[in-house]
Amino acid sequence: MKRRTFVKSAIAVGASAVLPGCNQSRPLAGGTLEAVTGSGEEVSIESAAVKEFAGELSGNLYLPTDQGYDTARQVWNAMIDKKPALIAQCASVDDIKHCVEFARHRELLVAVKGGGHSYPGKSTCNGGMMIDVSQLHAVDIDADNRVATVQGGALLGHLDTASIKQNLATTTGIVSHTGVGGFTLGGGMGRLDRMHGLAIDNLLGATVITADGRTVRASEDENPDLFWALRGGGGNFGIVTEFVYRLHPFDDTVYGGFLEYPIDKAKEMMTFFAEFEQSMPNEARVEPYLYADDGERIFGFSVLYAGDPATGETVFAPLVAAGTPIFNSLDVGSYSEIQTMLDGELGHGQLNYLKSGFIVELTPEFIDAFVDNFEGDPTPNVWFQHLGGTTSQVGGDATAYAHRDVRFNLGIDSVFTDASETEARIAAVRRYYAAMAPFMKGYYTNLNDEGAQKTWGNYGPNYPRLAKVKAEYDPSNLFRLNANIEPAA
Ligand SMILES: Cc1cc2nc3c(=O)[nH]c(=O)nc-3n(C[C@H](O)[C@H](O)[C@H](O)COP(=O)(O)OP(=O)(O)OC[C@H]3O[C@@H](n4cnc5c(N)ncnc54)[C@H](O)[C@@H]3O)c2cc1C
Repeated sequence: MKRRTFVKSAIAVGASAVLPGCNQSRPLAGGTLEAVTGSGEEVSIESAAVKEFAGELSGNLYLPTDQGYDTARQVWNAMIDKKPALIAQCASVDDIKHCVEFARHRELLVAVKGGGHSYPGKSTCNGGMMIDVSQLHAVDIDADNRVATVQGGALLGHLDTASIKQNLATTTGIVSHTGVGGFTLGGGMGRLDRMHGLAIDNLLGATVITADGRTVRASEDENPDLFWALRGGGGNFGIVTEFVYRLHPFDDTVYGGFLEYPIDKAKEMMTFFAEFEQSMPNEARVEPYLYADDGERIFGFSVLYAGDPATGETVFAPLVAAGTPIFNSLDVGSYSEIQTMLDGELGHGQLNYLKSGFIVELTPEFIDAFVDNFEGDPTPNVWFQHLGGTTSQVGGDATAYAHRDVRFNLGIDSVFTDASETEARIAAVRRYYAAMAPFMKGYYTNLNDEGAQKTWGNYGPNYPRLAKVKAEYDPSNLFRLNANIEPAA
């Protein structure tokens, strides 16, 4: 990810497509719709049942023959090209219930689409039903009580825009067109997490449509086991129609920017940073990165102090003085602008491949491997998400998200548009990831897709409890396109 390319785009959050109404009226060839179940068996759904279902929905239902279907099936990552048998764009919570009931009754394969930003494409499927909740994106801010109530299909930009306007904020991610749904249920890292914890640490409650079509509230006081599981267990337990977040007083004026160095200074700067980072306050966030610009390999730090800018300048002074940057954009600026500056660079419709893993410590061995392996053509983008701080003050079993002892998430990705480069791009990411893997301790389930055994292991000691909650709320594994948990026997 080229941090130096400040592609500022208008907040794309209002861009969810409003497509022409096309509730199924067209007769189906052969009088049936061919679909697949969660276990992969083919099923035929009678035309009359599809028609009745379409009539129950206030939103649109798209079948493969419908105009608009190809637009409706798109997700953020253009590498994902799947064709659901039915796409329901829910316009109400009742629509979601109808979808769940229709799908459960026929044991259909189900994909739930919030922001559609799953790298491996978990929000779509071949032959099943895509339940698209992205039109449900209202945000209500209770400024007096510092609480945001957010519909399950909202984007992070919807939440940021509404809360920052009221001088309040909570942890959201670094690209505003990402969905609150998948983001929050997997943990939710962002520029404020060292100060205020992960998104799940600010979650006060959620409302869920479970696999049996019930509406269930989850909080510390209501269904606390479900509340525990939702905080890191992904979309395994149902469709979240509403998230309630704690907000914090916040001033949009912050201090930050980028420092960049030639690659031959990378080890020296990383070694300094490894020590400096240990005593940084929680308002401060520094994220190293590597990228190549026209063949020139660059090392840099993305820097933010999300508090008083003058204090930030003082805090980062030793880091600035430790080297001679070839690029230095540190200045007073707007947090809202920082939160949208990558929206264009990481926009919809590009081909994306990513691997990631958690790093506990920046040892000299790690630093050597991090720099020495950054070579070849193409090179991937390599970047950190800075954790620790408040995220590590929560116990590993206090929420389903188990990885509280790590200080960084290390991401390795490639973003491109020419499909003929796919093999080489994937190989470059995998090659660098293989060199980093010995230093990694688990991974962020919101980014990687690793198969059943590794997924279960990644939940760590929390897995048996998660499997029990899964058995209670989704015993038939209707919601399986996620970091999937097997219902306990
Ligand atoms: C450009 C980009 C930037 C990112 N930046 C960050 C970041 O800064 N921090 C971070 O932590 N992560 C980040 N991520 C990862 C992100 O958290 C995951 O991709 C997340 O799954 C996206 O959520 P979504 O709703 O957009 O995705 P979707 O693809 O819609 O859904 C992903 C998963 O969540 C489930 N899901 C979505 N909504 C709901 C719901 N309402 N109820 C139940 N299940 C639901 C889906 O079924 C699916 O399993 C980023 C991803 C991208 C592509």
